[in-house]
This record gives sequence, structure tokens and C-alpha cells, in this order.
Amino acid sequence: MSLFLNAQLDFIFFLYGLAFILLAAVCFAITGLPGRTTCFGVLGSFALVHGCSEWLDLIALLVGDTPAFALVRTLLMATSFALLLEFARRQARQLQLEPPGPWLYVALALPVVVTGVIGGVDAANAMARYTFGVVSTFATAWVFMRRAGRESPDTRGLWMFAAAGFGLYGVAAGLIVPAAHFWPANTANAASFTAATGIPIQLIRGLLAGWIAISLWLLWKRMVAVDVDSARYTLAQQRILVWTLVATASIIVLGWTLTQFLGGIYQRSVEEESTGDIQLLARLLDRETAALGRTAAAAGEPDSLRGGPPKVVVDAFKADLSGFNRSYFLVDGDGMVMATNRQELSLRPLWPGAAGSAPAGQNTASARPPMAQREITDATWIFVDGQRHYVRRRFADHSRWSLILLMPDSRVYATRFLGIIVTLLVSIMMMIYLYGRERLLRDRVELESRLNLVDVARNLQLQATTDPLTGLFNRLKLNEALGSELARSQRHRTPLSLMLYDVDHFKAINDSHGHQVGDAVLIEVSQWVLQRIRPSDLLARWGGEEFIILAPGSDGPMAYQAAERLRIAMQQAVFGRVGTLSCSFGVSHYRDGDTAETMLARADAALYRAKVGGRNRVELAA
Ligand code: GH3
Ligand code: MG
Ligand code: MG
Repeated sequence: MSLFLNAQLDFIFFLYGLAFILLAAVCFAITGLPGRTTCFGVLGSFALVHGCSEWLDLIALLVGDTPAFALVRTLLMATSFALLLEFARRQARQLQLEPPGPWLYVALALPVVVTGVIGGVDAANAMARYTFGVVSTFATAWVFMRRAGRESPDTRGLWMFAAAGFGLYGVAAGLIVPAAHFWPANTANAASFTAATGIPIQLIRGLLAGWIAISLWLLWKRMVAVDVDSARYTLAQQRILVWTLVATASIIVLGWTLTQFLGGIYQRSVEEESTGDIQLLARLLDRETAALGRTAAAAGEPDSLRGGPPKVVVDAFKADLSGFNRSYFLVDGDGMVMATNRQELSLRPLWPGAAGSAPAGQNTASARPPMAQREITDATWIFVDGQRHYVRRRFADHSRWSLILLMPDSRVYATRFLGIIVTLLVSIMMMIYLYGRERLLRDRVELESRLNLVDVARNLQLQATTDPLTGLFNRLKLNEALGSELARSQRHRTPLSLMLYDVDHFKAINDSHGHQVGDAVLIEVSQWVLQRIRPSDLLARWGGEEFIILAPGSDGPMAYQAAERLRIAMQQAVFGRVGTLSCSFGVSHYRDGDTAETMLARADAALYRAKVGGRNRVELAA
């Protein structure tokens, strides 16, 4: 299990980093929402830096590590946790809690620097996790819990979910640290965790990163839904949500399968290559032994092969292999390395049980721990010196000694990396597509609701300026139009006239035909007049059976003529059930110093004169 999961470490690191990069994207999206969400930008920065440091861990796994690279990654990790702490402080301040001041950063950095100077990068990494890691994640969990208490019941659960994610991540990334030479990092560390559970801690951390990313993603969706406030959007969003989860799961499974497949191709080629190589080694050893046998026979010396090849043979064998570019070992029956092209591993036990078999004087070397945890029997993938290797063993002829060939698996990781890159690209494409769809939907819904508002406003405006019976403009609109036309006439010295007319003896129509017929007549007369005035004129119902035509550009005589034409035509027209009817007109035109009131008053006086003068006539105000 452990060996299998360790072989998947690259993919685990990749997903782990990806979860944080996604978290960053979600946090930056939240920052754009209305409301007090600005500090989520800092949380996004944490996620981005932290995700990048995980991906750098992946690169270290692929191409190997150096102390400088390890230092950079430790610095990045500490910086990311400092950003997380800053987020927690800002969020706490928004919740009117009183967080500690910036001195906290100095207090946390001090032990890291001291440990780093004394114990090196690994120790600093462990200490940075104990200080920055633990404090920042637990503080974030705490502020999320406090925030949950103040949110509405339907999002409270999500805030608690996120809080739990951060709390557990604090345990996995802050308390379970890389091994270091001080307590408790020397006992409770990533290696002891894996030994006890068979699971690499990176897998747990990656899963928790996914947990945190999903909880904030759901929170973001909820915030957007509240912001957009449309049932249709909420429904569609739920569909997108399900699709996203399905697509993500499929991409991860397919991506992993591809990665395994690609790694497998290389793995098989390594295994085949090693078969050829170990045969080559065995032939070489045979040849040297045979050569010695001939010389020994010639010299009459006894055969000394039983305990292992004599030193001459081993030396000749080593000389033959000086140009060989893979790690090989010639080990004795106890697994002690007797010859190798990796000098630093010479005279080290390869597997347990070899102690004490070292030649006298080599005790210091044999006291070193064995490179592998168990005896290598035939051909297998195994950890040697902390790195996964493919190993092959073959007994040297007629002895308990054996030949071992070691092939590092970093090239397996290299081919697997192709699978990871493909998975990453597909994930990015999916995210862009789903985000685009969501954005399109949101824009459409927002546009629709905006258009609805415009419609409502337009209706309201129409209602406010329209007479409900006749559909003509009402008194309000006429007053408005008269005001602006007066201003225009004053400024440009253009003529302006008002024709006020009233249906003669309308009361009699109501009395003899009923009120409803009276209404119908008012509607009919309105439409009839509307069709006979200029497009630039404005017809409004002034009240009851009185109407006004506002005629910009017409002076008194012109308006008088127009009114006269209307009066004559009206008297000849036939209106439904009542037959003929007539109107009286009072016309006034704009004079210097006129206001709406004076113009209306003069038109009204003229109308009165027309009525008094016998009705069915037009009077022009002086
Ligand atoms: P004249 O103007 O020629 O002096 O006589 P009149 O009978 O038309 O004048 P009066 O002001 O006495 O009567 C106006 C009538 O118009 C009274 C009122 O019932 C009627 N009227 C006002 N508004 C409406 C309406 O919206 N529908 C109907 N059917 N009748 C209305
Ligand atoms: Mg009347
Ligand atoms: Mg009247």
C-alpha cells in the first residue's frame, strides 16, 4: 500500500497544488462580489503561494532536490502561512474581534530563523509549520467559526465546513512535519505517520486541500446566488455544480489512469533493460572468475571461490565496469556491499541482517543503517536510501554473493509527468468552460432583470402621464410639455398656441344615452381629433369633456384657422350612437412675459366667450 501510494506521490502533489490554485481562483472571485469580501484577496494569495510551493515539491520529486531549492520552498511555505494569518487577522477585525498586532509575525519568525541556523533547512521547515502553520490555520478555522455564527442558517453549515477543513489541515500540515532533530519533530513526523498508517501525509493534506477548496467554492456560489437573486439562476447553478463535480471526478480518474499508463510504459522498459544489464554483469563476473581459474590452475593455486570471489576478481570486475552508468552492487551473503560504482555506498549493508559481517576495521561503516528495509530477493520496486528504485538481484555463480542492479525511478516520474500535464490542461479547459457558462448565465439573468426594471419604469412613466379613459396625455403631461414649449418659445422667439375645446351640451348626451355611451363618445372624439392634428402638436385631456391642443410653431391666427377647420369638420362628422355633436374653442397664443397660467387663463376666457356667444364657435384671445 505504502509503496503503491508513494509511487503516486507525484500525482498527489499535483492534485494537492491544484486544489490550492482552485481555492485561489475562488477567493479572487469572491473579492469581486459586493459586500465586505476584500480580505478574501489575502486568502487567495495564501492559496496561490501555497499551491505553487506544492507544485515546486512535485518538481523536486521529479528532478531532484538541492539545499537551495529546499530553502526556497520552505520560505514560500512560511510566506503562504503568514498570508493566511494576515487573512485571519483582517477577517477577525471585520468581525469586531481584536486580533494580535503585526508583532505576531516577528514572534513566529524568530524560532524559525534560530532553528534554521542551528539545524538547517529541514529543521526550519518543521519549525515554520509548528509556528506559522499551526497558528494561521487554527486562527482561520476560528474566524470562520465566528463568522458562521453571524451568517444566515443556510450558509452557516458551509462556513463551519470550511472552518473544520482549515482546522484539520492545521493538524496535517502544521503538526505532522518533516523529520527534524528536535522534539517532537524527531518522533511525530511525516515518516512515522506513513510508517504507522501506510499513507503518505501528502495524500491527507491534498484531500484536506480539496475539502477547503470545495467548501469555499460552495460559499462563493451561494454568495453569487444571493447577489443575482433569481430562482432560474439558482436552479441552473445547481446543475452546473453537479456537472463540475462529475467532470472533476472524471478528469482526476482519467488523468490518473493516463499517468499510470505512461509510467507503466517506462517501468516495463526499465525492467527489460535491467534484465539485459544484469546478464551482462553476470557474464563479466564469470569471465573474470574463469580467467583467474586459468591463472590459478597454471600456478597450481586452490580454488577460492567458495566464500566469494577473491579480491583480484572483484578488482578486475570493478575495472571492467568503470564506464558502466548504472548503480551496481556486488554483495556478500549478508547483503553487505563489497563492490560498487557508488563509492559512498561501499561497505554499507544493503538490507537488515548484514551487521557484523563487515571485515574487521569497517565497523563504522556497517553501523550505518541498511539502505533497504528488507532483503532483495529477485526483481522488485523498492525504497533504497529513501528513493524508489527498481532492483534486480542475481546470485554470482557458485557463491552466496550476488549481483544487484539499481535503476532509479525518477525517469518513471518523468514519463508520468506527461500524464500530469495533460490532466492539468484538461482541468484548465474544463474550468474555463464551466466558468464561462456560469458567467454567461449570470450575465443573461442580470440583463433580463435589468430589462424588466426598465419595462416597469417605462410603464410607471406611461401610467403617470396617460389618461386612462381616452389614452391621451393627461393634465400632468400637458403641464410639463407646456412648460418646456414656453421656455423654447422664449429662447428662440418662436410662436406657440393653445386650443382649449369643450364638447357642447355633453351633459345632455350622458342624460339621454347613459354614462357609458358618454365615455365611448369621449374616446371616439379623442381618436378623431388625434388623427387631424399635426404630428408636432400635443393633444391632452384637460378634464371631463375638455381637451387642449398644444401647437408649437403656430401663431394666434394659424391656431385660430386650425381650430376653425376642426370645428367645421367635427360638426359634419357622425359619432356612433349619438350622431353629430359640436365643440366650442378658446385659442390663446404666446405673448412676451406669458406663463403657463396666463396662457391657460386667456384660453379659458376665450372658451367661455365662445360658450356664451352661442357655442360651436372659435374665440381667439387677445
Ligand atoms: P356646455 O359645456 O355646453 O356648457 O354643457 P355641458 O353639459 O357639456 O357642460 P357641463 O359642465 O354642465 O357638463 C359636463 C358633463 O360632462 C358633466 C359630467 O357628468 C360629464 N362628464 C365629465 N366627465 C365625464 C366622463 O368621463 N364620462 C362621461 N360619460 N361624462 C363625463
Ligand atoms: Mg361641455
Ligand atoms: Mg365642461
